[in-house]
Amino acid sequence: MAAPGKVAAFCLPPLPTVREIIKLFRLKAQKQLSQNFLLDLRLTDKIVRQAGDLKNAHVCEVGPGPGGITRSILSGGVEQLLLIEKDARFIPGLQMLSEAAPGKVQIVHGDILTYRMEKAFPKHLKRNWEDEPPNIHIIGNLPFSVSTPLIIKWLENVSKKNGPFIYGRTQMTLTFQKEVAERLTANPGGKQRSRLSIMSQHLCTVENCFVIPGQAFVPKPEVDVAVVRFTPLVQPKIEQPFELVEKVVRSVFQFRRKYCFRGIETLFPESGRLKRTEQLMMTANVDPTLRSFQLSMSQFRSLCNTYRKMCDEDPNLFAYNYREELKQKKNSSLKSTSWPEQTEE
Ligand code: SAM
Repeated sequence: MAAPGKVAAFCLPPLPTVREIIKLFRLKAQKQLSQNFLLDLRLTDKIVRQAGDLKNAHVCEVGPGPGGITRSILSGGVEQLLLIEKDARFIPGLQMLSEAAPGKVQIVHGDILTYRMEKAFPKHLKRNWEDEPPNIHIIGNLPFSVSTPLIIKWLENVSKKNGPFIYGRTQMTLTFQKEVAERLTANPGGKQRSRLSIMSQHLCTVENCFVIPGQAFVPKPEVDVAVVRFTPLVQPKIEQPFELVEKVVRSVFQFRRKYCFRGIETLFPESGRLKRTEQLMMTANVDPTLRSFQLSMSQFRSLCNTYRKMCDEDPNLFAYNYREELKQKKNSSLKSTSWPEQTEE
């Protein structure tokens, strides 16, 4: 569990409640943007506590909306709070919060998927990767359609030590649909073990902190939500480039319920596929009859390391794309079975 942080280190002056802000600025949740708000400040305090002690921290909150979580972050006594919100309707309400905490809040009307985090915080906060994490936190309750692509992007940033991780092992506390949170934290053999489990756990310590029932949100989403905390590892469990790990893991999970060699085969062009699959499985010492969800992290590491050696020996191998080969085969078989064009006599 995350070290519980104190939340009330800073007292905001009396303010309208989040519900009143919603009414005042007519902030009707837009269903097509999956906007579900948290109005209960005990709950937003609980989310923020998962991030640890925020005293003097620099925090980026993604998708603050009407500002429930924002209030809890400010109460934590942060030094600086950067808010990134895509929907312009929320900006006036956030400005009201900013005035209540003078000099602490910066509001950006923008999209977190394209916002450049490399310059978001002061340079002096940078830490070496091996050191303790910098006093920088990312916190957010985003729509599910954004949180999954975002965490994949940020995991790539962790692997390359860029984006928000240019400052060191920046920690993140984010919400996900409960099932996605289970995938992020699933162990080998688990029902939810998937590509996300390997990609996240090989780069970060991932903790599924607690579940927020759907009814805690306004309006109520169809699903429950879970709070997940990520701390980048000093040393990734698989020390290979992100793209290579991603390719191996994606191939393995392609046929989740079949023997894992069925997915691994797709790493190799048709000619010599069987021989090279056998070579990879034998050298990596992985039983080809295991199912993808049964493979451990060390088995993935071994597969990635062996595949890397094979790519070094055959420089064309990494660029090979199974789906592209299938597409080309399909197109050429369509051409050969289509009628020859009629010529006018
Ligand atoms: N944090 C608020 C809360 O917990 O009550 C609002 C949560 S609501 C589920 C998601 C928020 O993220 C909305 O305010 C929405 O406008 C914002 N949002 C959606 N996509 C975004 C993006 N790509 N970048 C920044 N904000 C985004």
